Amino acid sequence: MKKTLRPATIAAHAAGALDPQSGGVVPALQPSTTFTRDENYALTRPDNIYSRDNSDNLRQAEEVIRKLEGAAETLLFPSGMAAIAAVFRTLANGAAVVVQSGIYWGTTSWVRDFCARRQITLIEADLPDLVKQAQQSGAAMVFVETPSNPWLKTVDIAALKAAIDAVLVVDATAATPILMQPLAIGADIVMHSATKAINGHSDVLAGVLSTNDIAAQIWQDIRADRKGAGAILGPFEAWLLTRGMRTLPLRIERMSQNAIALAQHLFDHPKVADVFYPGLPSHPGHEIATKQMNGGYGGLLSVLVDGSREDALRVVAKLQCFLRATSLGGVESLVEHRHTIEPHTGIPENLIRVSVGIEDIKDLIADWDQALD
Ligand SMILES: *Cc1c(COP(=O)(O)O)cnc(C)c1O
Repeated sequence: MKKTLRPATIAAHAAGALDPQSGGVVPALQPSTTFTRDENYALTRPDNIYSRDNSDNLRQAEEVIRKLEGAAETLLFPSGMAAIAAVFRTLANGAAVVVQSGIYWGTTSWVRDFCARRQITLIEADLPDLVKQAQQSGAAMVFVETPSNPWLKTVDIAALKAAIDAVLVVDATAATPILMQPLAIGADIVMHSATKAINGHSDVLAGVLSTNDIAAQIWQDIRADRKGAGAILGPFEAWLLTRGMRTLPLRIERMSQNAIALAQHLFDHPKVADVFYPGLPSHPGHEIATKQMNGGYGGLLSVLVDGSREDALRVVAKLQCFLRATSLGGVESLVEHRHTIEPHTGIPENLIRVSVGIEDIKDLIADWDQALD
């Protein structure tokens, strides 16, 4: 019976997290950093010693994601970047790594710094060149993001894995485990910024890694390093995350519906030059996204206003239902002028990145219409 549970049921039940002590239908929040031993010095609860290593709230949140991801093991970190850093820190000095170009700027920026400090050869490449670079460089690891932020590029995970020898790590933040399960199609490790849609309420910073290959050296190193170096999510954040994830499938369904409707509307709008969204048939990654995602294309899209930097900023200023703020995946819609944030990375000056929330689509479309007017 349990094996056949579907994502909406797993999420709504928080993978069965209850509070046995009170009979509560939601888990208790347990902030204790340390756990008692009895007179014989045996642990009261053998799996609880110290909260840098173990905490019930952390395990509860990890179990929900593990089940949604179809993974053997899931580890939570205090941010998405902490999860990414945990992966890269396993690389030996002098190793080579291939990282997709044009991905989340925070990743690119930190990885460049880190690789320079550690004498790691960093090869940044876009598809299809990325495959050749991975084959020729003898890279230990390939890191990609799909759909990517803010270009919405798609990577064919199965095809990439079949073509390379390296460990394949996929940042699937924009898809969430609801729309895509990268481990089932070839990824060795899947990563998410749980700060985004997994939590969905813009009030928790968290990152997550999952794998099916627990015995792999890289996973053993990641797990040992999280425990030893203490990059752990706190119990309150884990508790909030478990709460947020109860509605994850519902939120993703609505966000995807809203996003495709908005993308289509803006694509046809005379004052819009282009829309990047994998759900649009005109998008170069549409076929790949349709093959490896199910149930929608997520809430992230980018809009090229037909005009200058000033025109784009004027549109952003006029929007009312879309808050001007970075980040994505929350219940509230956000917009960001990416060129202002990363001016030297080739982001078009007229690009507006949009995170579509769960509001009424009529309000969202009307808002863009008045802003573009
Ligand atoms: C936000 C984000 C990250 C970083 O996650 P944080 O939780 O902000 O540290 C990594 N990758 C992608 C695609 C993101 O959107």
